[in-house]
Amino acid sequence: MRYFYGLICLVGIGTAAACAQSGRATPTPVFDISENEFIAAPIFTGVTPSPVPFLFSLPTPGAEPISGWRPPLYPIPWSVSPYDHFYFVRPIAADQVNWPNPDYRYGGVFFGPNIVHTGVDIPTPEETPIMAAGPGTVVWVGWGLFTETPGNEGDPYGLAVGIRHDFGYYGNQLYTIYAHMSEISVTVGQHVKTGETIGLVGATGATTGPHLHFEVRYPNNSFQDTYNPELWIAPPQGWGVLAGRVTDTKRKTLNSFVVNLNREGTRENYLVKTYGSGGAINPDPYYNENLVLGDLPAGIYKISLRFEDREYQTWLEIFPGQVSYFTFEGESGFDLERPPAPALDFLPIPLPVTPTP
Ligand SMILES: [Zn+2]
Repeated sequence: MRYFYGLICLVGIGTAAACAQSGRATPTPVFDISENEFIAAPIFTGVTPSPVPFLFSLPTPGAEPISGWRPPLYPIPWSVSPYDHFYFVRPIAADQVNWPNPDYRYGGVFFGPNIVHTGVDIPTPEETPIMAAGPGTVVWVGWGLFTETPGNEGDPYGLAVGIRHDFGYYGNQLYTIYAHMSEISVTVGQHVKTGETIGLVGATGATTGPHLHFEVRYPNNSFQDTYNPELWIAPPQGWGVLAGRVTDTKRKTLNSFVVNLNREGTRENYLVKTYGSGGAINPDPYYNENLVLGDLPAGIYKISLRFEDREYQTWLEIFPGQVSYFTFEGESGFDLERPPAPALDFLPIPLPVTPTP
């Protein structure tokens, strides 16, 4: 079997607020909390990057980050900047671990080269309810989603559900995928609301243990059309997301490349790898990233990495409810400038609710 889905269990305490809130049919930005503050917030005002790359010594690694708690999530659709698109809730309720396994993120390589992860894994016990990440129509239930062969009990995704959402992105249809379920409680053609239970966590298909494999797909419901779910699921309130593009001096992407993050004034250290090579993964059309780290408390972070025997570092601010961005281009070092503003036709366009397939 070519594809496997790893699981390294996390222990954590869930948040107090349920994320099973009602969704809206169109992804109009909402500013339900701290409205004025968020409207006034600049899209990005990161600190000045290091003027030139310089040598430094990596500190002794600190304690593992304490990651067992999250504030309530932003309501969806959440989009402070026009470039971000947090349209989905997490498919696992907030009283469970509802964040991706940090050791096997989207683009991660766990079992070997060319087996690149096309979704995120949320490690939860068997029979944990799985919720629709947004409103939509169920377009797939049962075995065979990966191989697109209904009833194929050799399918690595096991029992799976696919939802085509009521809204689109950039004029394209959006889908979410839920795999390795133990039980499915919806049928094809059924319309589901945000947070509606669609089944239970299981370990069906190719998996080392119970967890939910979750994907975001567009424009087609295809294995080749996945995007990083951490850029689509709403962060906890007061927390943000880091996206980066890490390349060599000739702007060739560096794959499975280690980047370290340390939150200033704390011993919270994060290690994240860039996407692996050879897989069916896609960068966000705006950020063109090859690294994403979600669920970061707002604050100043030091980013550091080692490239061709030199250490490089910069500082960057994570803003609440937003994606912060950096690039690294080999000997040119870090840059915090965002990609140019996209044309208007890049912006999300709500799609009409499509009829039952
Ligand atoms: Zn997975």
